[in-house]
Amino acid sequence: MSGATVIDRDHRPAAPLPDAERLAELQHLAAGRDARGILELALKEAFAARAAVVSSFGAESAVLLHLVASVDATTPILFLNTGKLFGETLRYRDRLQDQLGLCDIRSIGPHPDDRLQCDPDGTLWSRSTDACCAFRKVVPLRRALSGLAAQITGRKRFQTGPRAAMALVESFEGRVRFNPLAEWSQHDLEAYAAKYELPAHPLVEDGYPSIGCLPCTRRVAAGEGYRDGRWAGLDKDECGIHTGLDGDGI
Ligand code: SF4
Repeated sequence: MSGATVIDRDHRPAAPLPDAERLAELQHLAAGRDARGILELALKEAFAARAAVVSSFGAESAVLLHLVASVDATTPILFLNTGKLFGETLRYRDRLQDQLGLCDIRSIGPHPDDRLQCDPDGTLWSRSTDACCAFRKVVPLRRALSGLAAQITGRKRFQTGPRAAMALVESFEGRVRFNPLAEWSQHDLEAYAAKYELPAHPLVEDGYPSIGCLPCTRRVAAGEGYRDGRWAGLDKDECGIHTGLDGDGI
């Protein structure tokens, strides 16, 4: 670990947790709905104008974004631009914005002072991926979400072990979190993308089934797992944005 200190300068006190009764009610309302129905619950019924989608514009992002656009194209889309992304991802974001008609994509990133203090030469990822993800992803996302009551993710249960038991609706850091694609398989995603002719991230056909920052993503060889190209060689499969600063994210 490097000695870099993550400054949560924009951290505001967490909102009170949604009470158990309210959470149970939302879980009951979500049960039996398809992904679009869960998005309607979040964006139209329970949290109109108080929810945002978190998207990496990665390999599977087009499906959730297409569904969101079909419900409300003005939904805020929080896009974590860490400063370490592939150029292909930035161009893919612009293509999806135009093609899906998304009109409120918010590009968020680390505070310049944090960048100067934590990672002046831009190589922190090579010494501590946890510290790098914390100041480039976790803190900026926490800042962007403050003031919102709910967030929507594109996480799926099949992606990682810790996600296997994820609920459709849960509470996280004082907000309600909706996971409308939790039950989807890789086949479901591919079938949906084919049905609506959604453009693929350009790196997928180049051997990247899961795409994050350039220094921490490599191609996956035949026989390797779906996310083996993320933080390869490290005991890490989450960036922390879904688990808190101490957690084990996109
Ligand atoms: S994925 Fe790598 S480069 Fe991106 S924020 Fe995390 S450690 Fe830094």
